[in-house]
Amino acid sequence: MSITLKTKEEIDILREGGKLLALVLEQVAAAVAPGVSTWELDALAERLIVESGGIPSFKGYRVTGIRTPYPATMCISVNDEVVHAIPRKDKILAEGDVVSLDIGMWYKKLCTDMAITVGVGKVTAETERMIAAAKESLDLGIAAVRPGAHVGDIGHAVEERLKKDRLGIVRDLAGHGVGYELHEDPFIPNFGSPGTGPELKEGMVIAIEPMATLGTWRVILADDDWTYKTADHSLAAHFEHTLAVTKTGAEVLTRV
Ligand code: MG
Repeated sequence: MSITLKTKEEIDILREGGKLLALVLEQVAAAVAPGVSTWELDALAERLIVESGGIPSFKGYRVTGIRTPYPATMCISVNDEVVHAIPRKDKILAEGDVVSLDIGMWYKKLCTDMAITVGVGKVTAETERMIAAAKESLDLGIAAVRPGAHVGDIGHAVEERLKKDRLGIVRDLAGHGVGYELHEDPFIPNFGSPGTGPELKEGMVIAIEPMATLGTWRVILADDDWTYKTADHSLAAHFEHTLAVTKTGAEVLTRV
């Protein structure tokens, strides 16, 4: 589909839904602990979304070429899993694990999408640094957003920050337009050259989502058809916000 622009009223709804989603994710993140299964976190997320008046947007999502629709509310990716890992009862978190919590919600017929990465208990200094750099790269990507800037400016800002820590920058997966659908145009890579790619315009709503690794940028798709893992089994981190392009910059919509 082509790039869409949202009205002020639609952005008001996305802000309302985004805030509720951020509150849900905050509570799910607080439940992360050694001994907890990713299935339990997913069940909590689903209950909180429904209580918020929303509908999980990942559940039932279909991707061309993949046999099964996505079966859960969240993607909960642990250690070398980069994104899209399916929650499981037998996937029990342990001290030192790195967990990416990715969640999306329909609210009043519009959807927002966000992700954070947290350590389980104490993680290594190297892991902490990767998580901090990935988070900061998202902030810098968002700071590059304004009308007249280009998608390549976002990717460039993210890439420069991750390169500083010599992290792998996942290239096969990217940010995207969002709102009417879970994935809309434009495609927003986490690398790029300034001034290239589609131009950003006021009213666009996009999800920026850097994915960084402690090793290679290469990812492999697991046998479940959904989970992306690092090809060298290095640890990965993933952060995401949904934001609206405003008259002067960006407004993060998935914020508590
Ligand atoms: Mg996304």
